[in-house]
Amino acid sequence: MNILVINCGSSSLKFQLINAQSEELIAKGLCERIGIEGSQMTYAPKDGDKLQITEPMADHTAAIRLVLNALTDEKSGVVKSLDEIGAVGHRIVHGGENFATSTLITDEVLAAIEACNDLAPLHNPANLIGINACRELMPETPMVAVFDTAFHQTMPEEAYLYGIPYHYYEDYKVRRYGFHGTSHSYVSQQAAKMLGKPYEELKIIVCHLGNGASVSAVKNGKCVDTSMGLTPLEGLIMGTRSGDMDPAIIEFLCNKENKSVHEILNVLNKESGVLGLSEGYSSDFRDLEKGYRAGEAPSIRAMKTFAYRVVKYIGAYAAAMNGVDAICFTAGIGENGPFIRGMICSYLEYLGIAINETENAKRGEETVISTPESRTKVLVIPTNEELAIARETFELVK
Ligand code: AMP
Repeated sequence: MNILVINCGSSSLKFQLINAQSEELIAKGLCERIGIEGSQMTYAPKDGDKLQITEPMADHTAAIRLVLNALTDEKSGVVKSLDEIGAVGHRIVHGGENFATSTLITDEVLAAIEACNDLAPLHNPANLIGINACRELMPETPMVAVFDTAFHQTMPEEAYLYGIPYHYYEDYKVRRYGFHGTSHSYVSQQAAKMLGKPYEELKIIVCHLGNGASVSAVKNGKCVDTSMGLTPLEGLIMGTRSGDMDPAIIEFLCNKENKSVHEILNVLNKESGVLGLSEGYSSDFRDLEKGYRAGEAPSIRAMKTFAYRVVKYIGAYAAAMNGVDAICFTAGIGENGPFIRGMICSYLEYLGIAINETENAKRGEETVISTPESRTKVLVIPTNEELAIARETFELVK
């Protein structure tokens, strides 16, 4: 069965068509500037040339119509008709406490996702638009919602509660939810396969280090803690997000800069992280690494502070699980950044970690980068959220 995986943003839409049995990628692409002048689609069938299609896309329905046309096109298409698409898997950012697993989409499920809009006002409405557009064009095809938050729903109360009046949790569901769950789940399971050990018997720390970044602690196959919170702003220092800080800083900066809370939160989301620490130089670790090697203080400061925060989380999660068998690096920086991986691991001698430099020099492939003697194993595992969504979708519809 072919599964269409859709990841809908406010003005973009990423898609992949995956054969669920062979797990082969059949085609993928991206629609950009939906509803904005200059919309375009990139479409890459597995055996053909990549195409750039510039065509107005007034809304997400128009974008999905273009995607379906491309997939079924006589010349560049990969399926004869839409009947060859067995199901659609939608990535949904926030499922709140309503969804601990993926679920078949019904009217009730749509309403429950909508009820979480408050918790992810930038993402969930766009995800819903994607679902509605697909339902309109493929009314008979089963649709599945796969949530970024679901994997973390196994966290115990002491890990998900904040130290604020309990009624805020009861009244408004203010708690830690965590994100990147599909990635943390996929990578931790893959780690167990690479180590040849039962998933249910391992203590794994997953460092998802991309432009957005989070760490999770996975004990005996269940997430027991994660660094992102009510929103993706908490936790690690990220490309442009601040991560953890004293909440009193917000009022302090509002007063000093004569800005609203909303404006300061915008700074914390979009102008902070390694971009802010490097005085606006870059949020991209390729640039920062060049700067670091050239001895430039802003890049050195940004990378050291980023690495130190990751190291602190690893320590916290090793403590939370009373040990750790494997630490995994994934996402853009985790998969492609031997330099930053080396910086992080240089702090971890206390876990018995020793790194094989030749293995650590590799990028973007599944690799054990620790030495055979290393007490705790260190793995690089390219994440594949789309494949994870396709697997979950197939499980529910087969
Ligand atoms: P993601 O959000 O997972 O797509 O990760 C994007 C980030 O990965 C970029 O902003 C870069 O910081 C980082 N990245 C990508 N390629 C490399 C590379 N070759 N070396 C270091 N960092 C990289």
